[in-house]
Amino acid sequence: MYIDPHIHMVSRTTDDYQRMALAGCVAITEPAFWAGYDRSSAQGFVDYFRLLTDTEPRRAAQFGIRHHTWLCINPKESEDLGLAREVLAEIPKFLDRPNVLGIGEIGLNKNSRNELIVLEEHIALAKSRGLLILVHTPHLEDKLKGTRLIMDAIMAQGIDPGRVLIDHVEEHTVRLVLDRGFWAGMTLYPDTKCTPQRAADIFEMHGTDRLWINSAADWGVSDPLAVPKCREEMRRRGHLEAVIQRVSFDNPKKFLSQSGRFEVSCSCPTPR
Ligand SMILES: [Zn+2]
Repeated sequence: MYIDPHIHMVSRTTDDYQRMALAGCVAITEPAFWAGYDRSSAQGFVDYFRLLTDTEPRRAAQFGIRHHTWLCINPKESEDLGLAREVLAEIPKFLDRPNVLGIGEIGLNKNSRNELIVLEEHIALAKSRGLLILVHTPHLEDKLKGTRLIMDAIMAQGIDPGRVLIDHVEEHTVRLVLDRGFWAGMTLYPDTKCTPQRAADIFEMHGTDRLWINSAADWGVSDPLAVPKCREEMRRRGHLEAVIQRVSFDNPKKFLSQSGRFEVSCSCPTPR
């Protein structure tokens, strides 16, 4: 049994849901993200939020998987402050939907001034509603600087770091994130970011406290079975079953349960 706490099912097929269920997936969380193209209006986001809070949970339930979500306008589309604020004004209308866990995946992409302004406004929204936060960190050379900027922006508003997960950590950022009291997520991609092997190395070096794994599978080259593959890699290396369960089930459950809305069991009948 495992949880994939970061996956973009809007980009995946029912075959993926079926394969995930067969591999033991019981719950997922789907952060709002860049859809692979820039949306032309706030209405495009409203439709996306409807999909995340209504359509996708029903699709997942057919396979016995509990679906949860996070809402935001992603950093890549935050450069246009006018559009970002229109979208921010729509988000509260969806926050009471039963599968919404918090605000995410917010963060920085190019570490620009406007991205930072929109990030701060999302943090303020999360704070005012007492919501959990899921953070996207920039890739490649911007990652270390971006991770620091994001953590500073969160701490500046007095948010408890134990209610924030910083995702896409790698070897050079994981320690920094954990040492400041945040949770950290490793994204398992077939080639870039963390492979299952690199993630297993990081667990061996940094322990398993406040650390989880996810596939972040989306419309690009990615793998919706990355979490069970990492579990296999850890098994192959002789890790105890309890440790494997901790990183792929207990840890995400512990963090996500702080929302008061996270559920593992799916009450809907499954066709399996
Ligand atoms: Zn993502």
